[in-house]
Amino acid sequence: MEVLYRSTRSDAAPVKASEAILKGLADDGGLYVPTAIPALDKTLSDYSRMDYKETAYEVMKLFLTDYTEQELKDCIERAYDSKFDTEEIAPLHEADGAFYLELFHGATIAFKDMALSILPHLMITAARKNHEDREIVILTATSGDTGKAALAGFAGVEGTRIMVFYPKDGVSSIQERQMITQTGDNTRVIGIRGNFDDAQTGVKKIFTDEALRREMSERGYRFSSANSINIGRLVPQIVYYVYAYSRLVKAGRIQEGEKINFVVPTGNFGNILAAYYAMRMGLPVNRLICASNSNKVLYDFFTTGEYNRNREFILTCSPSMDILISSNLERLIYRIAGNDPEKNAELMAALGGQGKYEITDEMKKGLDDFYGNYASEAETAAEIERLYESCGYVIDTHTAVASAVYQKYGKETGDTAKTVIASTASPFKFTRSVMNAIDAKYDAMGDFELVDELSRLANVKVPNAIEEIRTAPVLHDKQCDVDKMQDTVKEFLGM
Ligand SMILES: *Cc1c(COP(=O)(O)O)cnc(C)c1O
Repeated sequence: MEVLYRSTRSDAAPVKASEAILKGLADDGGLYVPTAIPALDKTLSDYSRMDYKETAYEVMKLFLTDYTEQELKDCIERAYDSKFDTEEIAPLHEADGAFYLELFHGATIAFKDMALSILPHLMITAARKNHEDREIVILTATSGDTGKAALAGFAGVEGTRIMVFYPKDGVSSIQERQMITQTGDNTRVIGIRGNFDDAQTGVKKIFTDEALRREMSERGYRFSSANSINIGRLVPQIVYYVYAYSRLVKAGRIQEGEKINFVVPTGNFGNILAAYYAMRMGLPVNRLICASNSNKVLYDFFTTGEYNRNREFILTCSPSMDILISSNLERLIYRIAGNDPEKNAELMAALGGQGKYEITDEMKKGLDDFYGNYASEAETAAEIERLYESCGYVIDTHTAVASAVYQKYGKETGDTAKTVIASTASPFKFTRSVMNAIDAKYDAMGDFELVDELSRLANVKVPNAIEEIRTAPVLHDKQCDVDKMQDTVKEFLGM
């Protein structure tokens, strides 16, 4: 069955998967959604006999129907190789009755590597398939982790350039160091004087600027996106939910068909949307638990039906979730509005204008598969300490938000279904917050001293991604104001 992609905001003709990946965002500013969600075409025990790459092929082929078998398998081979420090790619770690799905074993030790190690290959394959000979310019807004993962993925990839905007004061010091030490002639990293929402809105504005697009095209450039608004980010993320389920079947921890919960620490709503797509493909899911930090827009949305971004933006110790405009929620809104682009566009216009919108009672019924809650800064820190003290397992701040929310969920509902918690970053990426949560005495130590101390404490080798940046020179030190983002892009391209 061929799957096409249509915009969430208009009735424009749907496009093929490779075109949607090349474009990133639809011309009308909408997000591409599949015209139908394909069903899994193997049994759950079939998947339990496959490795990660085989599972990736079986899942992705259902969505990327205009890629040939050879093209897709080549992309998968290049992505899930020795860049990952474990052969399983996404191992499950059982601790205190839950299964932590470790999605941080890739090149930049955050879950963004799961999709961004393959996106550049999907994209250059798409360019070839569509006879695109212009240079592809990837513009990326990052709350900290997408930036480095996208830089690592696209650095040195012929026919592409990548520019990353991150909030200058809104990322961890390790995250910032990872980005500003990035090598590669085709890379550029800019700190903006604003927050992640400013960066994301700025990038979307550049994408939809018709005049700029024409000017770029004349000079042989075209834009695309490595953010989770690109369907090429979402599809590879569906894979690990199927994989996690199949590992539990394989280990005899669940019966085939038994429903499980997924808990996902959420920012832009990409990761949890991938879990939702997996469920709609037929993966047996009980509840999708959406965990927020103190920027709890989504929790409020799930409890009241009103999405309201008019509130203070809080800088937390889980910065990759410091987001008030969760872009990918639009894909869910479109769906619960009955796949109605007009209704969705109306709500998104309200969000752009008044900064809020409210869904109808009918639409609320579409949210029954979700449970939302949040963890405060203190609850997040307490969860890191609790898990370390009770089983010696050290988790990062984002995973801790999810873990703390899972505790709340259990108390509230008494649900005992087996539960997988998406573990989205290595604790080494947020060493200071993690170590302070375990003991305040660590605050006096330097960043890399803390790294070594964490390695001793957790009995885990310091990841390569951290070793690499200990002494690496800073190669990017540019900053810009939010309203100068477009000029900065032009300068990068010599326009
Ligand atoms: C990006 C990120 C998240 C949030 O994921 P979304 O897909 O944006 O919801 C959570 N944790 C970490 C570590 C991340 O990098």
